[in-house]
Amino acid sequence: MKYYLALLTASALALTACGGGSESATSTSNQEAPASNTATASASDTASVVASASQASSMAAECRITLDSNDNMQFSSKEIAIKSNCKDVTITLTHSGKMPKAGMGHNVVITKARDKDGVVSDGMSFGVDKDYLKPDDTRVVAATKLIGGGESDTITFPVSKLNKEEEYVFFCSFPGHVAMMSGKVVFVE
Ligand code: ZN
Repeated sequence: MKYYLALLTASALALTACGGGSESATSTSNQEAPASNTATASASDTASVVASASQASSMAAECRITLDSNDNMQFSSKEIAIKSNCKDVTITLTHSGKMPKAGMGHNVVITKARDKDGVVSDGMSFGVDKDYLKPDDTRVVAATKLIGGGESDTITFPVSKLNKEEEYVFFCSFPGHVAMMSGKVVFVE
């Protein structure tokens, strides 16, 4: 635990250093790059710091995970990283967009990778009232409600529902969203 905390602190420092660097860059008046470019560069730097941290012990991996979604049909992450020693995992999905769920609804559905296509195509016919999921679909490990802009939903499920030898994915089951809105569920120490 101490080891993990130390890594967290180190990663936090690295991130802080990143942020500080980009702030001083933007405040320099003779900076040639437009502010938006600087922001993009800084975001990808941050992403690579997180990625390299996850090799050893991800700072993103927790028993509580928050994922945002938006009106551009995107999740805020392509990965849900769960610490292997979590007993339960809690996932909160937020929707920072403005569109209603009938037009731009999002949920987080977790299945085995090989079950994804079947769950999506079966769910489509059940409509927005059933969150675009077949009721009691046993292939679904966990799923939030379908939410619209400004809403959120939180689910908690035992990590024992996931077989660590299997490959799991998460996605949004709203028709047409899965291509843009899916990612991997991974375990990290
Ligand atoms: Zn969606």
